[in-house]
Amino acid sequence: MPLEGKQLIGQQAVLSDGKAIHAVDPATGETLSPGYPAGGQAEVEQACALARAAFDAYRETGLEARAAFLETVAEEIEAIGDELIVRAMAESGLPRARLEGERGRTCGQLRLFASVVRAGEWLDVRLDPALPERQPMPRVDLRQRHIALGPVAVFGASNFPLAFSVAGGDTASALAAGCPVVVKAHAAHPGTSELVGRAVQRAVAKCALPEGVFSLLYGSGRELGQALVRDPRIKAVGFTGSRSGGTALMQAAQSRPEPIPVYAEMSSINPVFLLPEALNNRGRDLGEAFIGSLTMGAGQFCTNPGLVIAVKGEALDAFVASAAEAVKASAAQTMLTPGIHDAYVQGVDGLVASSKAREVARGNAGEGPNACQTGLFVAAAEDFMGDEALQAEVFGATSLVVECADLDEVKRVAESLEGQLTATLQMDDADLDAARALLPTLERRAGRVMANGWPTGVEVCHAMVHGGPYPATSDSRTTSVGSAAIHRFLRPVCYQNLPQGLLPEALRDGNPAGVSRLVDGQREA
Ligand code: NAP
Repeated sequence: MPLEGKQLIGQQAVLSDGKAIHAVDPATGETLSPGYPAGGQAEVEQACALARAAFDAYRETGLEARAAFLETVAEEIEAIGDELIVRAMAESGLPRARLEGERGRTCGQLRLFASVVRAGEWLDVRLDPALPERQPMPRVDLRQRHIALGPVAVFGASNFPLAFSVAGGDTASALAAGCPVVVKAHAAHPGTSELVGRAVQRAVAKCALPEGVFSLLYGSGRELGQALVRDPRIKAVGFTGSRSGGTALMQAAQSRPEPIPVYAEMSSINPVFLLPEALNNRGRDLGEAFIGSLTMGAGQFCTNPGLVIAVKGEALDAFVASAAEAVKASAAQTMLTPGIHDAYVQGVDGLVASSKAREVARGNAGEGPNACQTGLFVAAAEDFMGDEALQAEVFGATSLVVECADLDEVKRVAESLEGQLTATLQMDDADLDAARALLPTLERRAGRVMANGWPTGVEVCHAMVHGGPYPATSDSRTTSVGSAAIHRFLRPVCYQNLPQGLLPEALRDGNPAGVSRLVDGQREA
């Protein structure tokens, strides 16, 4: 399908007249066609008006119809075929296998949300029937369900051009909740965004849904993105990106006359704790596996292991030596955008210049314009805790090993950390007590605590938490990956003494919708 460079507003494709956004192939530096003229306030106005107009009808679509829509989106994405992968490779520098896997994840998560919608648990229906005879006061009839928040603004992520962009996790969970979605495409992959956006448009038409259920806009974050978050018809925001971008959107959302929630996933360095027995027994193997996780996708994962913490000594030296060998052997990989590459180089240069961090190894420099050269640094715990710069995320394949005097200092380092998406324990049986002592701290600091794995790789399922305290995310009570992500876009409504004919189907006597319900505190059979 020839790309047209147009805004997708409802079922229309509209050519804007702003400065054109061009993708750049990060592997070659070549500018890709077509240009995407930026939209602004007028396009935001049109998309939000349509989204608002679609909202009441869309949020009351039956469970089956909404689930079928999500499945149709997945089918339409698959039907694009290889064109999608080829364009995404050119726009992101990511290899084919990664993008094919990401397309599978994207369609898999749309289908997961379809099954979640059908099951209806998310409605969280509760009935407390009237007790007219109750003494001293009768009880009124109270029935609760969850409804969609309203139109949601989604910001496509640079590091997941499919799974966290136009029809990614934020969009899938918002659509599943019954919210129309207005996406701001990430400027790094406009063509990939158009292909997926057209697929969603086709699915909306095929399923005969109101056109405002989905729009895709192109423009600058400062103008179009801010206008979108400030639009009074937008009721929530989904974002993955930098701490500064996410924090700016939080502030914009909070300064509206009607503040709204922003679900921003931002910055995390994902500490890995090497406990003494594990380090003694398998330090060299751990060193090699660590670099495998660090260099995956040029380190451009939000769960990349950017920090390793352990008690200093021979065992840690063996770990560092083996990790250094793996770093030196590591190939340079193309980063997603020139901007991300520049930020990475700046972050690594900061570590090189720091008097408190020691460079242990660098990988191959590579030849392309935006190649990521792996880096490994070591710092003493006291220096790490006293220097904010050492604690900042370096987005890419660089990590810092923090040497502690003893397990008490390991705990102090854990306590000093900001909020994280993940915290990992490398432990053997004899480390159980040390792990138990750390666990309460890790629970307070991270959304996911794991043992004997590596944080990169996030399963899309029901129990996953991809979240955590600030700055990992803007709201630690939720997750952006997995079926629980739907709850970000819902709110409870209680119906008191409404006649049967006025009640939503899921709340009526006899349970005609056939959903799971809590009746008078008991789960209905
Ligand atoms: P970004 O700069 O935060 O941009 C993400 C999106 O937010 C873009 O659409 C951008 O629009 C918009 N945006 C940024 N600042 C905004 C503001 N003040 N107001 C309104 N919208 C705004 O992230 P990025 O381009 O993906 O990468 C930049 C850096 O973010 C990376 O170097 C890395 O450090 C970090 N990052 C972290 C993660 C993670 O998972 N932890 C993931 C990706 C990136 P415009 O581009 O049009 O301005």
